Amino acid sequence: METESKLYQLFEDELKDIYWAETHLVKALPKMAEAATSEQLKKAFEKHLEVTQKQVSRLEEVFSVLGKKASAKKCEAMSGLIEEANTIIGDTEKDTMTRDCGLIFAAQKVEHYEIATYGCLKAVANILGEKEAAELLNQTLQEEKNTDVELTVIAESFVNQEAEKE
Ligand code: FE
Ligand code: FE
Ligand code: FE
Repeated sequence: METESKLYQLFEDELKDIYWAETHLVKALPKMAEAATSEQLKKAFEKHLEVTQKQVSRLEEVFSVLGKKASAKKCEAMSGLIEEANTIIGDTEKDTMTRDCGLIFAAQKVEHYEIATYGCLKAVANILGEKEAAELLNQTLQEEKNTDVELTVIAESFVNQEAEKE
């Protein structure tokens, strides 16, 4: 058995961090969908919930190709970002576009955290020679980037303008 470098340990810790984050997003996204005003944003959250469930399985596959058991370590950042989403829901009125605008703030902060994490994980997987893991991590990275773009489209096509009139 090869000895694990410090970088490999860091890589594994970061995988545990994002695994915690994704599993908690599976719990948070239905609440965000429920809170959304527009059908488009509700649908976007519901769709991303399905994608996120697959991302959890994909992370389990990453642990598996590394010969590790999947395990989670609390991600303080995602915990805080989910708390922010809940605060925004509490601070905005139901059935308003201001609510949707706030939800998009929260959701894009989440996506950007994920993009940063998966980008770094992919780069480190490559440098460690873990090609299969890198490929899996890249798939999720692309999904998070697409979600971020979809949220921007929703915000800029009608949410922000309608919120401005409230
Ligand atoms: Fe994700
Ligand atoms: Fe984290
Ligand atoms: Fe995401």
